[in-house]
Amino acid sequence: MSENYIKIESKSSIDNIAPIRICVATFLSSLNIHIDELMDVKTALSEAVTNAVDHAYDEESDSKIIVEAKIRDDEKIIITVKDFGKGIEDIPLAMTPMYTSKPENEHAGMGFTIMESFMDEVIVDSVIKNGTTITLTKDIRKKSTNKV
Ligand code: ADP
Ligand code: MG
Repeated sequence: MSENYIKIESKSSIDNIAPIRICVATFLSSLNIHIDELMDVKTALSEAVTNAVDHAYDEESDSKIIVEAKIRDDEKIIITVKDFGKGIEDIPLAMTPMYTSKPENEHAGMGFTIMESFMDEVIVDSVIKNGTTITLTKDIRKKSTNKV
């Protein structure tokens, strides 16, 4: 098994969402990956990081998120987005399409739905007052096997 990874520790700030996305996308571009699949991964990643920034912490001071991107055997992408914030009380409810705990702030409640539709697997681990880790995985199609 071959594995490569990067790990980004970041302040939980809206300013860092785009840099994280660009960094992970650049890392993944070493793969033989379709541009549309790369877009899917970037979109799902953005939703997970945006959630950590928007929902995990009440105050921004010194709060951090850790994003890890892994490539396994040149065919599997595994991304984790970890925060150390308040945690999610009811995970099935949080993952319900159109559910949001912040309807007043123009949240559509579609973040988890988008992650699930663009990735093969979305795993949510969350402990109240300890934080949340989202694991996103995708098996990529090989370009060479996609000619027909
Ligand atoms: P939205 O972000 O538009 O509210 P999502 O589907 O992305 O919708 O998330 C649904 C809900 O799950 C959020 O409203 C929030 O209550 C909860 N949630 C998601 N991610 C986190 C997180 N990292 N920490 C705490 N709560 C979260
Ligand atoms: Mg969201």
